[in-house]
Amino acid sequence: MASNGYRNGTGTNKGAIKPPASSNIRSSSFKSRLPPSSNHSPGSALRRTSSASFTTAAGVPGRVRVAVRLRPRNAEESTADADFADCVELQPELKRLKLRKNNWESETYEFDEVLTEFASQKRVYEVVAKPVVESVLDGYNGTVMAYGQTGTGKTFTLGRLGEEDTSARGIMVRSMEEILVNVSRETDSISVSYLQLYMETIQDLLDPANDNISIVEDPRTGDVSLPGATHVEIKDEQSFLELLRLGEAHRIAANTKLNTESSRSHAILMVHVKRSVLGEEVAIPTESDKSSHFVKPPKPLVRKSKLVLVDLAGSERVQKSGSEGHMLEEAKSINLSLSALGKCINALAENSAHVPIRDSKLTRLLRDSFGGTARTSLIVTIGPSPRHRGETASTILFGQRVENMLRIKEEFDYKSLARRLEIQLDKLIAENERQQKAFDDEVERINLEAQNRVSEVERNFTDALEKERLKCQMEYMESVKKLEEKMIENQQKHQHDGFMKDKCNGEGPGFCEDIAVIKKLLEKETHMRKEAEKEVNKLKSQLGQHMDAGAGGDAEILKLQIALEDEVHQKKKLEEEIIILRSQMLQLTFEADQMRRCLARGGSGNAYPGLDSPMSQVRDSLSGHKTPVSALFDQVGVEKILDLLESEDANVRIHAVKVVANLAAEEANQERIVEAGGLTSLLMLLRSYEDETVRRVAAGAIANLAMNEANQELIMVQGGISLLSTTASDAEDPQTLRMVAGAIANLCGNDKLQATLRSEGGIKALLGMVRCRHPDVLSQVARGIANFAKCESRASTNGNGLHIALVLLQVYEAGDHFLSMKVHFHGLCKMLTMMLHLLGDTLSSHCVIWHSMKQMQRT
Ligand code: ADP
Ligand code: MG
Repeated sequence: MASNGYRNGTGTNKGAIKPPASSNIRSSSFKSRLPPSSNHSPGSALRRTSSASFTTAAGVPGRVRVAVRLRPRNAEESTADADFADCVELQPELKRLKLRKNNWESETYEFDEVLTEFASQKRVYEVVAKPVVESVLDGYNGTVMAYGQTGTGKTFTLGRLGEEDTSARGIMVRSMEEILVNVSRETDSISVSYLQLYMETIQDLLDPANDNISIVEDPRTGDVSLPGATHVEIKDEQSFLELLRLGEAHRIAANTKLNTESSRSHAILMVHVKRSVLGEEVAIPTESDKSSHFVKPPKPLVRKSKLVLVDLAGSERVQKSGSEGHMLEEAKSINLSLSALGKCINALAENSAHVPIRDSKLTRLLRDSFGGTARTSLIVTIGPSPRHRGETASTILFGQRVENMLRIKEEFDYKSLARRLEIQLDKLIAENERQQKAFDDEVERINLEAQNRVSEVERNFTDALEKERLKCQMEYMESVKKLEEKMIENQQKHQHDGFMKDKCNGEGPGFCEDIAVIKKLLEKETHMRKEAEKEVNKLKSQLGQHMDAGAGGDAEILKLQIALEDEVHQKKKLEEEIIILRSQMLQLTFEADQMRRCLARGGSGNAYPGLDSPMSQVRDSLSGHKTPVSALFDQVGVEKILDLLESEDANVRIHAVKVVANLAAEEANQERIVEAGGLTSLLMLLRSYEDETVRRVAAGAIANLAMNEANQELIMVQGGISLLSTTASDAEDPQTLRMVAGAIANLCGNDKLQATLRSEGGIKALLGMVRCRHPDVLSQVARGIANFAKCESRASTNGNGLHIALVLLQVYEAGDHFLSMKVHFHGLCKMLTMMLHLLGDTLSSHCVIWHSMKQMQRT
């Protein structure tokens, strides 16, 4: 058979780059010169038909498969070589190894398998040893050898026991495991010998005393045996591990004795496999029945095979002859066996007529397990360190002698590399662009979706809110209207009946109904507020979800935040509305209450009772139980109501001020109102006049507060008198004037304030209001002046007539002013009569009154 590999005896192909398709060409160049191994003659028929991949039908032997394994950097190398690249570069997918010469030049070698520093023990086993073990189980001999510099991982690859970590187990343990799994305990047997070959002497590692074992070769079959070596039967993995441990211990001991190191000897593990197999069945046809036949039972056969695992001595010893004496001898012997091994393999590969098997004990020992029908794997171990480049190179070259590897010379083609990189870069850029686009699209989609959802929610919410608001307003207006109607009706009825009946009996239920309606409204509002809160929470959780929706959601989050703020605002508004409604209810309740009281008294239904009948409130508060107004006031809280005085909504302000005024009518509430800053707020409303109702009601409230002596001083301190005076001159509305006059009149009753009232124009303002001829105003003016005069008279001890006269003169001077304005005669008379009553029937008062009358007559 013509060899067609690169090693074709000529080497002419060396240096040419091998086309990938021809990678298998180089794997069929060996032809054994050894006699065919015939110790298994009973099984030879089977062997011939075997489909083991490395034999052919004609019995052409397989070749030595060579794998290279790179050890990872160890701790020392990681530090010392940190700034340097490894001396080799592996291209496992191409099964190539580049040995670097320098930074830009390297030599390339091809192997059957290139195992990087990341290759697992399992993979190494499967690639390097498993095919050999399988062929041993099929009845062939096989060898696995590890070759390499000391410290590159030969023992790691072959001999590790992996006791703590089973994934670290080496080829020896894994091979035995595979054999044990595949043989039958009953019919098959496995035995092991463990030897060391040192300085051309074979020692038994299982029996250290046995240190010169001879090799026996069967000249007929070519089988190699070691009759002197210990054979240990292996039943299970555990006993095998024990044996390996024992062998290793003996090896260390033996080497210590010989004053050498393990790395200078070869360790050889021989596994003998004996399997019983059945011969072929023979069918013999009988005479009587052509279809039936007699089957001769198959012939039991025993198939023997051998697996040899060799942890070779460190390759660094090869060709080193600088040593002397024992060292020199040792080096020579190592050199001898390794170079003999190399030469034999070489001779086999080149179909050489002479294979120098006898040159060393190692080659003699391997004779029947190497070449021929035997399957052989060599694993070349190398280290990464650039410092050991020389050793690594020679290791690789040994491998190259064994294997018909191709050393490929490659010029570094920077241009094509640049081109390749550019193409790759372009592809990556395009891919990146595509991904970016997809990402942007997705972000946009999410944004849009979120926007739509938010605006839809907003729309729905606003609609619902508006609807509800309108409904509430309508209902409120409706009930106010009803109340007004009822009020008018009651008034009329009241007048008709001439105060004959107690109307409250008739009116009570009507009011109660209204109150019930308003209460319902209030409940509804509360419900709505809760709904709104729920909606806010929902939006919050939606916001959370949107935030999760990923990158690019910033804008969306911002929008959601705005929406959320909106919701919060809405909620606040709703709450405000609820307070308004409550205060409206308060107001209505109060009015109803008032109405009932008036009807009971037969009064006119005046809304601000504090001015006309201060006693009535005293009576109410003394009556012990809280009015409904006060109860509601407790519910809502004074601060909230006062807050509403500054609301943006004018309606809200009006309602709020009414409520405050009503509250101020009850003495029990006054202190709380003032404490919460109500007085200041009311004065502010008076100052920032905008609406007559607001001003009127505010003045009313101030008037009510002014009944309390402490408050009177506060009003003065806060500039209340000048505000009231301004209002007194501004206002046209008689009810406003009545309230202002009432307030000033109350202040007039305080002895301490007399001087200020006078100097700040309070009295003048009071009298000025007489221009409005409304009797209600006049009576308040009269009350004020009377109060004032009373204080003055108290101030002047011993009833100092002169002083009283002076005051009255002042009153008169002011009176003179309004008399000229043609005041309502009746009003003035009322005023003067009241003064007379209050001041007592003194000469001076008579005098003044007389004077006044005269003045009036004049005009
Ligand atoms: P050799 O038998 O070739 O002298 P060893 O097998 O004793 O080398 O390995 C030397 C050191 O390197 C040991 O500590 C071993 O654990 C470590 N080693 C070798 N090969 C590897 C590998 N592939 N992965 C990790 N450590 C390794
Ligand atoms: Mg070792």
